[in-house]
Amino acid sequence: MPVPLLDVNAQNAPLAAEFKAAFARVFESGRYILGDEVTAFEAEVAALMGTPHALGVSSGTDALLLSLMALDIGPRDEVIVPSFSFFASAGVISRSGATPVFADVCPYCFNLQPDDLEALITPRTKALMPVHLFGQAAEMDELQAIAQAHNLFVIEDAAQSLGARYRGQPLGSLGTCAATSFYPSKNLGGFGDSGLFCTSDTALYEKARALRVHGMQPRYHHSMIGGNFRMDPVQAALLRVKLPYLAKYNAQRAAHAAYYNTELAQLPGVALTDKDACGAAAWPAEPATHLLLPVAYSFNDHIWNQYTIRVRKAADGTNCRDALHAHLKSLEIGCDIYYPIPLHRQRCYATLPDSARALPISEQLADEVLSLPVYPELSRTQQDAVIAAIAAFLENKA
Ligand SMILES: *Cc1c(COP(=O)(O)O)cnc(C)c1O
Repeated sequence: MPVPLLDVNAQNAPLAAEFKAAFARVFESGRYILGDEVTAFEAEVAALMGTPHALGVSSGTDALLLSLMALDIGPRDEVIVPSFSFFASAGVISRSGATPVFADVCPYCFNLQPDDLEALITPRTKALMPVHLFGQAAEMDELQAIAQAHNLFVIEDAAQSLGARYRGQPLGSLGTCAATSFYPSKNLGGFGDSGLFCTSDTALYEKARALRVHGMQPRYHHSMIGGNFRMDPVQAALLRVKLPYLAKYNAQRAAHAAYYNTELAQLPGVALTDKDACGAAAWPAEPATHLLLPVAYSFNDHIWNQYTIRVRKAADGTNCRDALHAHLKSLEIGCDIYYPIPLHRQRCYATLPDSARALPISEQLADEVLSLPVYPELSRTQQDAVIAAIAAFLENKA
């Protein structure tokens, strides 16, 4: 049975009438840039993120870039970012003129590892950019403590974690400011590109709002240089239709993740990650373990943007993740590798003084991770097909 990695139509089709009505509202208003739809959407998402201020912007990437610009981060500054993330997290730092300093991640939660972070801080360091990867919060208490001790800003990359919580608090409300994304594969997936910047700092918000429109304030007066980072009202109106369902979508993803963990853990050679061992050796000593399943920390509400397993390399060095990837593809089961190359190993960063530094966990994860279908509308029958395919793969190995 073919199972897609993501099926946006399965989510959007039942809401077709509401989308058409929302589009008609924008069409009839004749207002196609910013305006009431965007303002209303901003208020609705700000409430969800637990921040007083939010700005609808052109993409998650632009929300991150806007964060750096609003904080005056630029040439000669450094920003610490995990190497195991989507490229945008680092790309925006470079585009601001600053230098990304890559940090290693935790082998269990995939997020910024606070333990070794302080060694990377220099007099030029201006900010930490934790990424709440795959929908689970980074260790924010520890990261905030480091930031406070060194007077650093914290920019949360919450692109994959809208609606997730850390010790009860919504992600996006913890740092100096935060960015999220409505790229179609994110938990609140739009109909094109858009994103959101949010903060509790009123002055920072005012500045970011001006930077969103070329730094213009008042009209045609530019005391600073911004960009065109505006969100379309069509996008806002359509996303407002989906926003009330986000909690349901996130709960469905969590239920699928729990089912995978229950079912897959019964297969020989499969173990749940030991979340208390975070930061310790990357694999259990038990040599017969081939697959590790993702487990959320008890204090996190994980929203499972991705359900990402790890596949152990064979003793002879064969990459078994690639073999499982090929096996699932041959059965038309959607799966993908997020992300195959750690950022410090990207060619565009080969000239950084930092690029030769080993980040062993990021490098190892890039060789081991595989994300399975976990989208809300995935049926039990489809999920059972994914599990059966993995069982067959493990049987062949045994
Ligand atoms: C998707 C994503 C972004 C960028 O968002 P866009 O809306 O695609 O620009 C940034 N960081 C992470 C971790 C992401 O997953």
